[in-house]
Amino acid sequence: MRITKDKCVYSFSCDHEPACRVMAPAQITLETRDCYSDQLRGGTGNPEIQWDHVNPATGPVFVEGAEPGDTLKVTIDAIDVADFGVACNEDEIRLLSVEDGCADFLGRFKIPLNKMIGVIGVAPAPEEGAVNNATPGRHGANMDEKLIGEGAVLYLPVFTEGALFGVGDVHAIMGDGEVGGTGLEIPADVTVTLEVIKGWQLEWPLVETEEVFAMVVSKETLDEAVDEAVLQMHGFLKSRMAGSGLTDEEIYVLMSLVGQTGISQIVDPLKTARFVFPKKYIHA
Ligand code: CA
Ligand code: ZN
Repeated sequence: MRITKDKCVYSFSCDHEPACRVMAPAQITLETRDCYSDQLRGGTGNPEIQWDHVNPATGPVFVEGAEPGDTLKVTIDAIDVADFGVACNEDEIRLLSVEDGCADFLGRFKIPLNKMIGVIGVAPAPEEGAVNNATPGRHGANMDEKLIGEGAVLYLPVFTEGALFGVGDVHAIMGDGEVGGTGLEIPADVTVTLEVIKGWQLEWPLVETEEVFAMVVSKETLDEAVDEAVLQMHGFLKSRMAGSGLTDEEIYVLMSLVGQTGISQIVDPLKTARFVFPKKYIHA
């Protein structure tokens, strides 16, 4: 199934009309516009950006059978990006061509792509109302987390019937922190497989790659985000290592020895941090 980019929303909300309905497990391809709704792809000058039309997320996808208390398991099968992207710093708009897995900056820097998804999430709990796509949270959205790339699996808590999944804001390249406010913003086709895990849920989004688990938490400050990510990872490891005989303290020591704290982004309305734990140290 393919969902075209005209079917998009600018907030995550349980009140949105679904763009489509799927029966999990389902593989779907979502066409995405870049975070400026492709408004800057015409080049430089000083275009009038419609600021209420930024960060579109294609969707939302209603996943049959997903209910509050469940988890939506999203496997990112492929991210196919366009042949050029946009990177901005204040009024400076740069168009970077993409070729052979690299982007060209100023004809002087050939930068390998690290394709990733900036905005990916589900509808928040009904009492939160509509949350603008720019704001990350427990429901995902604008986490701008580098690990959310091809081959990764994202576990999102489901807060409403059907989950109402959406995706947008793909980056061909981004560095930790996204310090200038943008990555290499680019339209893409994102192919995902959606599955529902019944009766199991974490409080925050969790990313799994071949080698690691990463808890991704967004808060007012990075300090709070890191503290919460560490706490949540401890809870997750405790349940995964229930048969190991390790005490709570021993799990913290292990996390301190081999876990990695990282910054996803520092430019969105809430700041996002990750806490990464290598899977090879998880023994039941
Ligand atoms: Ca973003
Ligand atoms: Zn972006």
